[in-house]
Amino acid sequence: MPKCIICNVTSNEMPLIQFLFKDTAYHICSQHVPVLIHNSGQLANILPGMNEVVDPDPMVH
Ligand SMILES: [Zn+2]
Repeated sequence: MPKCIICNVTSNEMPLIQFLFKDTAYHICSQHVPVLIHNSGQLANILPGMNEVVDPDPMVH
């Protein structure tokens, strides 16, 4: 069952959005979509290879 990569909530509890990263499908709940958009650097330890993405604002940690 798809789960949010951050909080592991399932689509039974929250709307989940599927996205692709390096041709792999992941799911994120509507609550954590802003993290994906604005603080993607926080996902570096969740998504393999995410740390290759340049963090535009390193002060937001
Ligand atoms: Zn979540």
